[in-house]
Amino acid sequence: MDLFKKCERPVALMDSADYDIVIKKGYNPYFHVASSKQGVFAVMDGQEKIMMGSNNYLGLTSNDEVCAASIDAIKKYGTGVSGSRYLNGTLDLHVDFEKEIAEFLGKEAALSFSTGFQSNLSIISAICSRHDYIVMDKENHASIYDACRLSFAKLFRYEHNDMAELERLLKMVPEGCGILVITDGVFSMSGDICKLPEIVEISKKYGARVMVDDAHAFGVLGKTGKGTAEHFNLTKETDIIMSTFSKSLASMGGFMAADAMVCEYVRYNSRPFIFSASIPPSNIASATAALRVLKKEPQRVERLRKISDYFRAGLKKRKIKYIDNNTPIIPIYTYEVVRTMAICTELFKRGVYVNSVMPPAAPQGGCLIRVSLTSEHTEDVVEKALDIIEDVLKTVEI
Ligand code: PMP
Repeated sequence: MDLFKKCERPVALMDSADYDIVIKKGYNPYFHVASSKQGVFAVMDGQEKIMMGSNNYLGLTSNDEVCAASIDAIKKYGTGVSGSRYLNGTLDLHVDFEKEIAEFLGKEAALSFSTGFQSNLSIISAICSRHDYIVMDKENHASIYDACRLSFAKLFRYEHNDMAELERLLKMVPEGCGILVITDGVFSMSGDICKLPEIVEISKKYGARVMVDDAHAFGVLGKTGKGTAEHFNLTKETDIIMSTFSKSLASMGGFMAADAMVCEYVRYNSRPFIFSASIPPSNIASATAALRVLKKEPQRVERLRKISDYFRAGLKKRKIKYIDNNTPIIPIYTYEVVRTMAICTELFKRGVYVNSVMPPAAPQGGCLIRVSLTSEHTEDVVEKALDIIEDVLKTVEI
């Protein structure tokens, strides 16, 4: 068969009957083109929309101090480093960020990577190898799945947040093998928070190390936005904290924070870290500036929590079914694939941008639209979006 045959139907994961309806009706919630900053509003496909589908949790992508830091870094260092951290690509900006984030999180050391995805590839493939075991939550992010493959470690997956299954799997690991338990801090699709106290307790019983992906928890959980470990007061017990710059830190890149010995090992042994160019000056400078804003203005974290609760209260009042959690990711049930695509398309037409969650990210029949908020959203904007969502959910026809 011709290798390119599959390219005739680009959305390969969708059932054929669904695919035919979606094409016929012109439902397509993907690849809209933005032509403005993305804050509470964004211009997409030429029109202003209420932005409820970005991960700009603290609203810092257009913050004056953060933008100025990025511009200043380009003026001083140019636009790129054209090399790996290992060789010519280490700037004082990288080293300073790593020192500052380690101190902020209460860890000995930190290391930065070119993206969040690459952080997981870099950390996990360096730390785990053929004779080790990785035990992880089934709902973990795709980058963790790919990192596990790259590591060649043996992989056990437990049902989402199922602690009895975590323990059952840990019992199955042969004596003497290294074990890494990995969980998202806040799960990207459901918005659930992991059960870190139980994960730590069970893992320690079996000599396993614990890694938390805090992409959606950094700047979101904990009193001062330090993430899942702060939320549960378990910083020391969380062996590796990983996160990204592409959400609360308003940039592009990622990092790990851990014991100095562990960061040092990754620095000298990680292929995605060594064989790829380092974070450009403007991006590391904006992430550092965003971190400083977070430290100076922890009230942004509280504001994000308040507006997320306000949104949830509005859904409850309108009797709309959603997944209840304490995070700014608010998934609303739309159930079927075609209905979800129709709803997203109609919401977009009516001026609200949200993301869809469909198989394989959601179970069949359990599709969702995923609202994500920023600390900058106001009650007025939330009310307007809720009214449109309510109306579209009631009236959309497929
Ligand atoms: N981990 C999680 C949990 C994520 O949600 C994401 C991105 N959505 C990543 C890692 C990858 O981060 P980035 O987009 O910065 O590569």
